Amino acid sequence: MRVDVLGVGFDNLTMMEAVEQGMALLNSPGAHYVATPNPEIVELCRENPAARQAVNGADLVLADGIGVIKGAAMLGTPLRDRVPGIEFATGLMARMAKDHRSLYLLGAKPGVAEAAAKNLKERYFGLKIAGTHDGYFQDDIPVVNAIRASGADVVFVCLGAPKQELWMAKYGAETGAHLLCGLGGSLNVFAGVAERAPKFWRDHGLEWFYRLCKEPSRLGRMMKLPLFLIHVQQEKKKNEG
Ligand code: UDP
Repeated sequence: MRVDVLGVGFDNLTMMEAVEQGMALLNSPGAHYVATPNPEIVELCRENPAARQAVNGADLVLADGIGVIKGAAMLGTPLRDRVPGIEFATGLMARMAKDHRSLYLLGAKPGVAEAAAKNLKERYFGLKIAGTHDGYFQDDIPVVNAIRASGADVVFVCLGAPKQELWMAKYGAETGAHLLCGLGGSLNVFAGVAERAPKFWRDHGLEWFYRLCKEPSRLGRMMKLPLFLIHVQQEKKKNEG
């Protein structure tokens, strides 16, 4: 059973379990997709029913970030572990490399997916890169066809939320891939265009603050975090009353 946090249902999994389930989905028939909502995406889902449906329709919904963990705990239904999308992706690629599975990288600005592909091929020996495409296309169908023609097992869909979740829900099956993962800005990190916060900040649940200092323009988006905590408080009171 999923843990509900303001209308988004999260799978209560550790990182290792999430990667195991990802591999199981990859090895089963049909198309499956993974969403990695953070508090900002949960807030977005409260306002946008189509986004909420696409996120909740995922085969795996992973708690990306400390805010979701805190929210679930405040509601009295704690989640066991946070599973940041980017760490899930690295765990999955390590397993895929062992099995010589193939990966398509979709999203980010032109050139970023190619740079990410080069780095990932070097880092995960055995991983096949089936193809890449930037995230600024007008027409979806040629992109869907390119993925299908590539024969990719897995697609990292990095178009930002909720675009990536809506895209996976709509086109996942048509791509012919078995697993699609919505991973936001991860290609920028894999390409070396953006850095993750150093370990200290991550370990102390402060990655959001580090990113804010690096990119002050994110402030408007980040104000969603206090709003999320206020909404969790309200929900808690409602449940108690
Ligand atoms: N993006 C894209 N196509 C679009 C809009 C966004 O490929 O039409 C990319 C954007 O270049 C960035 C990613 O989607 O690489 C979203 O990154 P963001 O930092 O918003 O994601 P987060 O990691 O915070 O979820």
